[in-house]
Amino acid sequence: MPCSEKSKHKISIFRKLRSGIPCGRFLSALLLLFLLSFCLSGCRKQDSSAQVSDVGFYFDTVVELRLNGTDDSKLIEECFKMMGQYESLLSRTREGSDVWRINHSAGEPVEVSDDTAALITLAQKYYELSDGAFDITIAPYVTIWDFQNNPGNVPADASIAAARIHVGFPLLHLDGNIVTLDDPRAAIDLGGIAKGYIADRLKAYLVGEGITSGYINLGGNMLAIGTKPGDIPWNIGIRKPFAEASDIITAVKVNGLSVVTSGPYERYFEKNGTIYHHILDPKSGYPVWNGLSSVTILSSSSADGDALSTACFVLGLERGMELIESLDGIEALFITDDEELHYSSNFPHDTD
Ligand code: ADP
Ligand code: MG
Repeated sequence: MPCSEKSKHKISIFRKLRSGIPCGRFLSALLLLFLLSFCLSGCRKQDSSAQVSDVGFYFDTVVELRLNGTDDSKLIEECFKMMGQYESLLSRTREGSDVWRINHSAGEPVEVSDDTAALITLAQKYYELSDGAFDITIAPYVTIWDFQNNPGNVPADASIAAARIHVGFPLLHLDGNIVTLDDPRAAIDLGGIAKGYIADRLKAYLVGEGITSGYINLGGNMLAIGTKPGDIPWNIGIRKPFAEASDIITAVKVNGLSVVTSGPYERYFEKNGTIYHHILDPKSGYPVWNGLSSVTILSSSSADGDALSTACFVLGLERGMELIESLDGIEALFITDDEELHYSSNFPHDTD
């Protein structure tokens, strides 16, 4: 990105961001953005072709779009509008959303949009593929832990145990666009898959509008459109777990692929030397502690990547890698607590 455009870009970050973003998350998101700008822009090489980019705040995170070969900022505006609509549909906490209505249905059938039905169908696929490690019915635990606002209170074992009987995908039924929960206290949370799904929808819209180069970054959930101008692959940095957002442990070159990472450092608190984080074991209701510090998935569909990054984090290195190796066209990088990098067979990387 040329320098003058860079400063315009930084100003637009502040213009677009809504107020009330938690400070730590804001700073780390901002750092990540600068880092991505650095990694993705091909650094100092200037390109004369047209380009539009902007940032916003949706899904409780910073989002960024960049489109090459166009100066039509209406495309970005339309994407932000779509994000707002998806947020109104899929947020667990926003009153009147599809997810909110399911969770407040007290066991009555609820009619949902095609998008929500598609997401639940996909979530079921990953529930089955991961042997229950990925389970959107973890919502009763999510409410208790409340990592979005929790300053460091570990819930009582008894409250987690009480929630456990209301968790389990088999409590949820989807028939066409009708969702029914067998248990009035069961609930769903699409936080482990929605951003990937939305990124795919945005890309489909942009490609339909003739965009052949760009990227969609939903809080570090990256989806590339084609390559950079000149057929140069995007170089996507993968964060060093728990380090500054600008600290990259490695990078991966992609053409049109999704790169999604799940890690405890995204949302956590530390109490008495233990890290309590937002990726939960559906069987126990507690954060997963299994020696992993992040999982990155490379795939063409970002929804697949999003679900699988969360699922593999729960499954752990051995079972997660086994799952990835059984799937066509999906690659993964597992980073363990000792900062070792474990690649699936065809993950593109230097071997030295
Ligand atoms: P991020 O939200 O940082 O992109 P993830 O994609 O890994 O990270 O999603 C984590 C979110 O997924 C949690 O905040 C929660 O909403 C939900 N979640 C947590 N554990 C599970 C699980 N075992 N299965 C499905 N969703 C989960
Ligand atoms: Mg996920």
